[in-house]
Amino acid sequence: MGRLLVLILIVVVAVWLVKRALAGGKRSDVAQKPPVDGDLVSCARCGVHLPRIEARAGGERLYCSDEHARLGPARAPQER
Ligand SMILES: [Zn+2]
Repeated sequence: MGRLLVLILIVVVAVWLVKRALAGGKRSDVAQKPPVDGDLVSCARCGVHLPRIEARAGGERLYCSDEHARLGPARAPQER
């Protein structure tokens, strides 16, 4: 009988710890992600999203890196 009580107690404590961890995790996730300053733009070459202030301009388009600005925009998907 004593073992059963100990087992139940362990299960209850484990469930409580998991619930507390899940609730706390949600709150800290929101707090740890700072809002992004400015608009997000997508690279014309690879499509990755980045803040406009970090983007490189190449012609009329924006790119994630100097390399992609040099390579130019990705080719349009081929028509079948
Ligand atoms: Zn890119």
